[in-house]
Amino acid sequence: MLHKKQIEQWVYRFGYDTDYSNGHPSILGNKGYGLAQMSSLGFPIPPGFTIITDGCRDYYAKGQTIAQPIWDQVVAEIQLLEKETGKHFGGGPFPLLLALRSGAKSSMPGMMDTLLNLGLNDETVQLLGHATQDFRFAYDSYRRFIEMYGHIIMGIPHHLFTAVLDGIKQQDNLRHQEGLSLNALHTVIDNYKKIIWTHTGTTYPQNVFEQLRKTIAAIFASWNGARAVTYRSLNHIDDQDGTAVTIQSMVFGNRGTDSLTGVLFTRNPSTGERSLFGEYLINAQGEELVSGLTTPWPITKQGIPSIQQADHALEEKYPLIFSQLSNLAIELENYFREMQDIEYTVEQGKLWLLQTRNGKRSAKAAVKIAIDMMQEGKIDAKEVLKRIDCNHIERLLHPTLDESQTIEVLTQGLPAAPGVASGVIVFSPEEVAAISKTESVLLVRPETTPDDIGSMAMAAGILTTKGGMTAHAAVVARGMGKPCVCGAHDITIDRQNKWLLIGQTKIPVGSWLTINGTTGQVIKGKVATIRQKPFPEFITFMQLVDKLKRMEVRANAETVQDGAVGRSFGMAGIGLCRTEHMFFHPDKMCLFRKMILTFSKTSRIDFLTKLMPMQKRDFKALFQMLDGLPITIRLLDPPLHEFLPSHPKDLADLALQIDYPLSEVEKRIELLSEVNPMLGHRGARLAITFPEIYVMQLQALFQSALEVEKVALEIMLPLVFDAKEVIFLKNIIEEVHQKIAPHIVYKLGVMIELPRAALQAATIAPLVDFFSVGTNDLTQTTFGISRDDGVKFLEDYQQKGLLQADPFVTIDQEGVGALIQMAVTNGRSTNPRLKVGICGEHGGDPASIQFFESIGLDYVSTSPYRVPIAKLAAAKANLL
Ligand code: PEP
Ligand code: MG
Repeated sequence: MLHKKQIEQWVYRFGYDTDYSNGHPSILGNKGYGLAQMSSLGFPIPPGFTIITDGCRDYYAKGQTIAQPIWDQVVAEIQLLEKETGKHFGGGPFPLLLALRSGAKSSMPGMMDTLLNLGLNDETVQLLGHATQDFRFAYDSYRRFIEMYGHIIMGIPHHLFTAVLDGIKQQDNLRHQEGLSLNALHTVIDNYKKIIWTHTGTTYPQNVFEQLRKTIAAIFASWNGARAVTYRSLNHIDDQDGTAVTIQSMVFGNRGTDSLTGVLFTRNPSTGERSLFGEYLINAQGEELVSGLTTPWPITKQGIPSIQQADHALEEKYPLIFSQLSNLAIELENYFREMQDIEYTVEQGKLWLLQTRNGKRSAKAAVKIAIDMMQEGKIDAKEVLKRIDCNHIERLLHPTLDESQTIEVLTQGLPAAPGVASGVIVFSPEEVAAISKTESVLLVRPETTPDDIGSMAMAAGILTTKGGMTAHAAVVARGMGKPCVCGAHDITIDRQNKWLLIGQTKIPVGSWLTINGTTGQVIKGKVATIRQKPFPEFITFMQLVDKLKRMEVRANAETVQDGAVGRSFGMAGIGLCRTEHMFFHPDKMCLFRKMILTFSKTSRIDFLTKLMPMQKRDFKALFQMLDGLPITIRLLDPPLHEFLPSHPKDLADLALQIDYPLSEVEKRIELLSEVNPMLGHRGARLAITFPEIYVMQLQALFQSALEVEKVALEIMLPLVFDAKEVIFLKNIIEEVHQKIAPHIVYKLGVMIELPRAALQAATIAPLVDFFSVGTNDLTQTTFGISRDDGVKFLEDYQQKGLLQADPFVTIDQEGVGALIQMAVTNGRSTNPRLKVGICGEHGGDPASIQFFESIGLDYVSTSPYRVPIAKLAAAKANLL
C-alpha cells in the first residue's frame, strides 16, 4: 500500500518486475493505477513511471514550479528506463522516446494534455532513422512531436499545423498521412518550424531534458486549463484531486503496415452488448484516433456496415493480434470486474497495452452492463446500484424518434451517443452560447476539441463530419448523455457561405436539423420524439431498486396521461393531485374564472354546480386509471393571481370571454388583488371564507368514488397552520361524506408547508392520517424568499459561497429540514401511525431524498418522469 509517510517518493515505476498493485487511483491517477495493475498481472506494457498526484499539488504550492526532489527522481527514473530498454534519452545508437500522459483519479478524457515522441530533436531523429532503418518512420514521428509540442506546450493553434498537412496530402492525393513520402515529411517539418518561429519568435527546445521538464509542467498546468475546469464542474470532480503524469517509453504504431494503434472496449459502450468493440488505425499513433481527424476501422466485422469492407476489420486483417488482444481484454475485465477501455499499439507485430481504465458508457450501456455483470456473478446487487447514477436514469428517459412520422434522412454518420435531438444548426461555440438561451441548438463541427466542452453542454446535440466512435466528440457526448452523430463524411461545412452542403442540398445556418444518435441518421427539420421504452435490463434494474429501497415513491399528477406515465415507471400511487390544475382546460377555465370573479354567493354556487360534473368526470377517469392505487387529492389551493390576467388587454379579452362587462371584471380584480398573493387568500383559507368551493369538490370526489370499483382515496388540505382550522374543514368533509358515500373509506391529510404548521404538528397530527410536506412553500415561508422571485438573487448567494445550493432545488437541511424533522417527531409523538411524505419539488432531487431517508420519511412524490430517479435515489440512500 502506498502510504502518506512515503510522500517523499514522488514517482512509482511500472512495467518492471515490481508490484505496485495496491496503489490507489487517487495517488497514481487512473492511468498510473491501470498500468500498475497491468504491470503486476504481467501484461505486455511498455515500462515507465508515474509522478503521483501529490506532485501536481506541490507544483501549484510552489508557484507552478517542479521542485528539485521531484525532478531528481524523474531523472533517476529515466536512467533506469534507459537500462531497462537499452535505449538512450537524447542519444544513440537507439534514442529513447517517451509518451507523457495526464491521468487524474477520475477519468477526464481529452481534457488535459498528452505528448508523444518526446526525446526527438534534429540529431536524435537521424539516429532513430539509422537505428530502425526507416527514415520515413523517424521523420513522421518527429513531425508528430513538433506538432504536439508546438500546439500543447507553445500554444500555437492546431489548425495551422493541420492546414500544412492537409495541403501536402491534397497535393499528393492521399487520404491519411501514413502515405507521406520522406520528402513530403521534410517539407512538412520545415513548414512546422516556420509556423513556430513566426508565431513565437523562438523555437522548440533541442535539449530533451528541457522538453521533458516543460512538458511535465504543462501537464500539471493543464489541470487548471479552462476545459479541465469546465469538465470538473460539470462532473462534480474535486479541484483538489490534481493529476498524475505517466511517463512511458514509446512503442510505435507508425512503423509500417505491421504496426497499428487502437482503442478497445470490452463491451459496447453505446448499447452495453457483451461483445468487443473498438477501432484501429494502421501505421498510426494513438493521438490520431482520439483527435478524430482520421476515420478508423472497427476491430470486428460486426462493426462494419458494408459487407464489401468486412475484411478491413482487425479480426479479419490481423487475426493473431485480434485473438491476443481479445484474450487480454477479457482477462482485464474479469480482473477489474468492470468494462474496460483499453488502448493498445502493435509495433512490428508485437502487441503492447498502453492503458486500461473503466470505460465511459451511455446510460443504457451502464444499466445493461451492470445487470449483465450481476447475472454473470461478477458483482452483487448493491454494487449494481452503486454503478448506476441518478443521472444515468435521467438520460435514459431521453426522447427517441417517433416512428409513426415520415422523416427525410439526409445522410448517415456514426451513431456515437444515443438519443434524438433537434435544433437550429450553428458552427461555433460562440453561436451556441448566444442562441441556446432561446432555441434548441445543434452544434455542427468537423470534429470537436476539448475546448468545445462548454458549448457541447449547452447544445441539444452534436454532429461532426469527421472522427470515429472513440473520437473526442463521441466520448464526451456519451458521458454527457447528449445525442451525437460523428463522422458524417457526406456533409461539408461551408463556413464562408454559412451553410451545410449535403449532396446537392444546402442547409443554411439557423435552419432546423435533427440527429439520431442511436442510428447515426441526420434528418431534415425538426421531428417528433417519444420517450425510450424500458428495455429488459432496465426493468430488472428497477426491480432491484424496488427491492432495495425503503421509501415509497409516488407521482405528482392530475391528468390520466401523466398518471399513466407514473404507472409505467411503477409509481406507488399519486402523491399530489393539484386540483386547481384540473381547470386549466379552456372550457373549465372560463367557468372557474367566472366563479372566482363573481360577487354573489348564489352565482358562485351556480358556477360551482356547473363545474362539479366536469370535476367528477376527471376524478373518475383518474380513479379508473389508478385501478386501486392510492391518490392524494388536494382540495383547491389557488393563489388567485395564477388564474387572473393583470395586463389591461388581457382583462378586456377575459371580459369578452366570460361575458362580463369589463368595468365589473376590473372592479372584482381590484378587490381580489393582493400585495403578496403567495401569502394571501389561498389554500385552506379560501375554504374558510367560501366553504362551498370545497363542498363542490367533495361532492365530485365522493360521487365519482361511488362509480368506480376500486379507489384508495386520500383527501388533503393545503396551507393549514392550526388544529382548529383543520377541525373546521374536517367537519365540512365529514358532512359531505356522510351525505353522499358514508361507506367509502378515505384518509385525511394536511400539507405541512408553513413553519407554524410544523410547530403545531403535535396538535394537528391526531386529527389526520398523514402529513405531506410541501417543501416548495415551506422553503418559501421559512426563508421568507418568494419562490417566484428568488431566482434573481439566489445565484449571488451561491456565487459568494453563502449558500451551497439553491434551497428550492436541494433541501436546506439545517433550516427547512430541521422543521420537517421536528414535524415528524412531534407528529408521530401524538399519532404513532402518522404517515409522512414529501410532495414538493425536492421529492425528485437525489440529495434531498437522501436526507428524507435519513429522517425516516415514508414516501416522496415527484413528477412522473422522475419516479425512477427518485426510486434509485431512495434505494441508494437506504443502502448508505
Ligand atoms: C409545495 O408547496 O411544496 C407544494 C407541493 O404545493 P404547491 O407547489 O402546489 O404550492
Ligand atoms: Mg404549496
